Amino acid sequence: MKILVINAGSSSMKYQLIDMTDESILAKGNCERIGIDGHFKHTTGDGRKCEYDVKMDNHTQAFMEIKKALIDEKVGVIKELSEVSAIGHRIVQGGSIFKESVLVDEKVIADIESLIPLAPLHNAAHVQGIRACLEVFGKDVPEVVVFDTAFHSTMPQTAFMYAVPYEYYEKYAVRRYGFHGTSHRYVSHRCAELMGKDIKDLKMITCHLGNGSSITAIDGGKVVDTSMGLTPLDGIMMGTRTGCLDPSVVTFIMEKEGMTPAEADIMLNKKSGFLGISGISSDDRDVSAAAEAGDPRAKLAIDMLEYQILKYIGAYTAVLGRVDAIVFTAGIGENQSSHRETVCHKLGYLGVAIDDEVNKKAIRGVEGRISTPESKVDVFVIPTNEEIVIARDTMALCSK
Ligand code: ADP
Repeated sequence: MKILVINAGSSSMKYQLIDMTDESILAKGNCERIGIDGHFKHTTGDGRKCEYDVKMDNHTQAFMEIKKALIDEKVGVIKELSEVSAIGHRIVQGGSIFKESVLVDEKVIADIESLIPLAPLHNAAHVQGIRACLEVFGKDVPEVVVFDTAFHSTMPQTAFMYAVPYEYYEKYAVRRYGFHGTSHRYVSHRCAELMGKDIKDLKMITCHLGNGSSITAIDGGKVVDTSMGLTPLDGIMMGTRTGCLDPSVVTFIMEKEGMTPAEADIMLNKKSGFLGISGISSDDRDVSAAAEAGDPRAKLAIDMLEYQILKYIGAYTAVLGRVDAIVFTAGIGENQSSHRETVCHKLGYLGVAIDDEVNKKAIRGVEGRISTPESKVDVFVIPTNEEIVIARDTMALCSK
């Protein structure tokens, strides 16, 4: 069974074609600048590549480009499109409606559309992706949707409510949803596998640290709390996002600067975080390099990030009552060993001990334990793989 995994954004569409017999990636790529000018990139599992500018006015045209590449003589990986058995879509916001992955039908599309107010850019783009897919592949190829929020749907109300007047929860479904659920789900299950234990017996804290970051407390395989909220802005500071702050900071700055809500949204989502503090870059590599070269604001940004990770781990340890494993994943979690070192050294009070040499080597796709055999808490670096979770869910639902 070959499954096409789609991650549709408003102006981009990433894809992977996965052969489920051995879960190998046959091809992957990205349609960029959809509706602007258009750029297409495609790589096969055996290293063949193509990249070119091509006008893509909408997601349907982007799918046509993917289709062309998949069956192309030079860079193709299948003979005909009918070899694609099913398509799995990543959906950011499933609200309180979707607690697990489902097969797409008109009702499901309408429900995803009804959640657009909660994730205007993402869900609108996902719906475009699903509809374009239907147009290009036809109704006979089943489509499945996998939600970033679904894994977090086990959170108790105590953890997901905000202390604003209750009517806003009732009227607008204002609450914590959490994101990166597919990633937290993948690494937590993989962690249990690596520990050789049943996930039901484990208490874990998973740290997804990338351009966007979130930390999750997982008890027996079920999320009990997570750092992102109504939107992916809450929690720890990120590349360009603030993370949590006193809400008055927002109204205060808006008033002082005469900002509209839309302008405030841009300030909070695009101009803050690493970029806002360092004034250099949103990319951890750039900021870390500048900090090492002695730039005080870059150093401050790094110190803030590490401090916030530490604080969340402390809070979630209290929530869980015990912690058996801590997992680091995503761009920063998988590669920036210095943050892992700083944070883990400060967790000595929990009995955390890492092997600094092993930690330094756990970069660029290396998976494994970085804690010492004596450590009371197992610490892992696990490269995330959201696509494989989407493909597995798609296969499971289509085989039913
Ligand atoms: P996204 O959230 O967009 O998927 P990623 O998970 O790729 O982002 O994370 C991007 C962050 O990870 C950047 O801050 C970058 O500095 C860091 N990062 C990515 N790759 C590496 C690497 N090879 N070495 C060090 N840092 C990396």
